[in-house]
Amino acid sequence: MKWLRKKNTEGPGQAPGEQETFPLVKKEATCFVCGDTQSFTTVWRRVAMMKRCPNCGLVFERPEELYKRFQPACPKCEEPLEQPGFEYGFCDRCGSKFELMEGAKPGLLPNQAQREAMRKHGKSWSYL
Ligand SMILES: [Zn+2]
Ligand SMILES: [Zn+2]
Repeated sequence: MKWLRKKNTEGPGQAPGEQETFPLVKKEATCFVCGDTQSFTTVWRRVAMMKRCPNCGLVFERPEELYKRFQPACPKCEEPLEQPGFEYGFCDRCGSKFELMEGAKPGLLPNQAQREAMRKHGKSWSYL
């Protein structure tokens, strides 16, 4: 009997592609959602434009169009987009995402629930 050997033609599936983010070391910053200094263990610097919404999964066909705006956001769910060259992190305590630039106040990138709460209270997240 002849056994058909499974050909191993899978190859390296992943294209090398460009790295979109670069991991950074843990930081301490003021989280105004918690209202105190918190540690941010997951911190990264964005290298390339986001091509896909991390919240709703929408693929951006022309991310450069979205990034022309002062506050780039997903056209579908309004998830704020991270900008290349900026640093971001998640508060260890509440999980909020912040823009963490040295010498600047951390800026919240509100998640869906936070955006809804702000809408309800008539606040614009960009001025928080
Ligand atoms: Zn989205
Ligand atoms: Zn927090």
